[in-house]
Amino acid sequence: YDLPDASLAKEFYAKYEPKEVLGKGISSVVRRCIEKQTGQEYAVKIMDVTEETTSDVQADEVTYAVKKEINILKMCAGHHHIIALHDTFESSTFIFLVFELCRKGELFDYLTQVVTLSEKRTRTIMRQLIEAVAFIHDKGIIHRDLKPENILLDDNLNIMLSDFGFAHVMAQGETLTDLCGTPGYLAPEVLAVSMYEQVDGYGCEVDMWAVGVIMYTLLSGHPPFWHRKQMYMLRAIMEGKYKFGSPEWDDISDPPKDLISKLLVVNPKKRLTAKQALEHPFFKREDVLSISP
Ligand code: ADP
Ligand code: MG
Repeated sequence: YDLPDASLAKEFYAKYEPKEVLGKGISSVVRRCIEKQTGQEYAVKIMDVTEETTSDVQADEVTYAVKKEINILKMCAGHHHIIALHDTFESSTFIFLVFELCRKGELFDYLTQVVTLSEKRTRTIMRQLIEAVAFIHDKGIIHRDLKPENILLDDNLNIMLSDFGFAHVMAQGETLTDLCGTPGYLAPEVLAVSMYEQVDGYGCEVDMWAVGVIMYTLLSGHPPFWHRKQMYMLRAIMEGKYKFGSPEWDDISDPPKDLISKLLVVNPKKRLTAKQALEHPFFKREDVLSISP
């Protein structure tokens, strides 16, 4: 059941003390907050359904979308590298999602500070990311918006996959046809579906394309597909045209390049799955060195 708006907001503010803004999305504001009873810090994503919607129909759609996001977050509960949902407050016009706090913010901002990551750091981050992706794909969940803005870092710089706003639980044999995500990270088959209205939709493979784009960006400091004119960028994506250019890639070893080249594969059937990617030689090295407790 839905609480009336006023009492919903009251209930939230009775339990939590809101603090500074941590980030903003198209439809949400995320603030640090403190749970009064425990003194624990969290991040609350506050969605105002009324503000950016004009009709009741749209408001219903947004509410439905948020319920979907909550359901998917609950399905992912317990994974070390997926953001944990602590509490929720829902009404017809306001939604509060209380998450564990990622104090170090977005991988995007971290990358902006350091420009590029070493192969070693990249290995750690990519392994955590692909483990999270393998976990969700195993449950039939497709994320559809993997990018450094949606990968958060905890105190120890471990990653937390977040923002399941475009995520979807795939039914047996289901394929998707809607265009969503972020341009630079879109897989070729997503663009093909919307351009040519081809009969086949797309599936979980789109996340692994985005994983390839992210990995390329972490190592070189710039995305693999970029052009001032978006049309050219989209064409490069569809043709799978990118380069390991000089000088950024000169000192980078072969295994990471090989892994990227097996992720940025235009044909989704030939692209590595998350499980296959974890078996790639790039991830084998540290396993030898680090002994787990
Ligand atoms: P949107 O769907 O609007 O993109 P996100 O869930 O991605 O919303 O949140 C927007 C931003 O808020 C994130 O990119 C990040 O900067 C910040 N943020 C979200 N969740 C957390 C969190 N748990 N800890 C710290 N910052 C967060
Ligand atoms: Mg986001």
